[in-house]
Amino acid sequence: MSRIEEVLRQDVFSRDDIIRLLSAVEAEELEMISQAAGRTLMERCSDKVYLRGLIEFSNICTMDCLYCGLRKSNQKVNRYCLTKKEIVAAAYECAANGLGSIVLQSGERRDASFIDFVTDVVREIKRQTVSEKLSDGLGITLCVGEQSPENYRRFFNAGAHRYLLRIETSHPGLFKKIHPPRQRLESRLRCLEVLKEIGYQVGTGVMIGLPGQTISMLADDILFFRDIDIDMIGMGPYICHPDTPMYKHHQSVDRRRNEIFRRSLLMIAAARLVLKDVNIASTTALQAMDPLGREKGIRFGANVVMPQLTPAGYRGDYLIYPGKPCLNEGNNECRIRFENEMRSLGRAVAIDQWGDPKHFITRTKKTRGNGPASYESLAEQRLNR
Ligand code: SF4
Repeated sequence: MSRIEEVLRQDVFSRDDIIRLLSAVEAEELEMISQAAGRTLMERCSDKVYLRGLIEFSNICTMDCLYCGLRKSNQKVNRYCLTKKEIVAAAYECAANGLGSIVLQSGERRDASFIDFVTDVVREIKRQTVSEKLSDGLGITLCVGEQSPENYRRFFNAGAHRYLLRIETSHPGLFKKIHPPRQRLESRLRCLEVLKEIGYQVGTGVMIGLPGQTISMLADDILFFRDIDIDMIGMGPYICHPDTPMYKHHQSVDRRRNEIFRRSLLMIAAARLVLKDVNIASTTALQAMDPLGREKGIRFGANVVMPQLTPAGYRGDYLIYPGKPCLNEGNNECRIRFENEMRSLGRAVAIDQWGDPKHFITRTKKTRGNGPASYESLAEQRLNR
């Protein structure tokens, strides 16, 4: 029996096991891992693929992440913010087309007018999308960065029930290398903790292929997701944007392109095998690297896709990384293509459903005393490792 077969026979995986999974290269090994992840998904979740209409409502950002094309220092970006009417219309279109949930994503702003705007938009979407099939309106995931506990509470009370806040890496040293000094991992971890205390379904994720990132760091990312008891994961390959400081690494990143793509799929599979009942997105960045990237993500254990529902005229201005797919397609065209892709993989597309992660239901049954350790203490442990 091969070492991979031995690893896959287990139900609980050690750090070494995860490193072994992430190191797989041979086609036969990759197939075994993908099949094992698929089995876990079927046993612990279902065959359903959940759709989240992605509305990137503003590319204005006050942060300066060194890898991101939308960073505030990038003067070449044509900045926009959709009106409330435009966002609600896009959300309404999602609901009318059977997408039970949306993701409202933007750059990070903390000013009062932005917070009021987001709160108002969430409330209005909820009000306008109640129907026979969606008795509580659309499911709403917010992805608007680090905010104060009070603002997170305002969004929650307005009707948002999921929140995505990616940490990009759980390794404190690597985090420092890809962010300016004022952006701190500890602060992001604290936000994740607050989001959970408020009652959100909480998602996070990392980039794969960052300069200086090792397989051990990625294995620690998976263990980090497990230890903080996360509900949702969104991970994708690192793709260099030419108008960012990290572009200086583009030659070495380009050389590792195949490895980065393969490892991104393996990260999805490893997260599925270790965390089992969480929702995992097959992200757009995978499709940017490979036209079939999103289907491959589903084959490796993902169960969420996020069709692009940003009004077509704005999509080209929301470029965290270059090569983003679906820029020129009509909304309906994008969605139909997704559904066909999923059917061809033998997976059912969930229509008019929120598609909440099973993990959220399980973890909310736990008493607080049995809950996860403090996120900051976990970061500290990693620093000392
Ligand atoms: S990753 Fe997010 S917070 Fe960072 S610069 Fe880009 S849009 Fe802003």
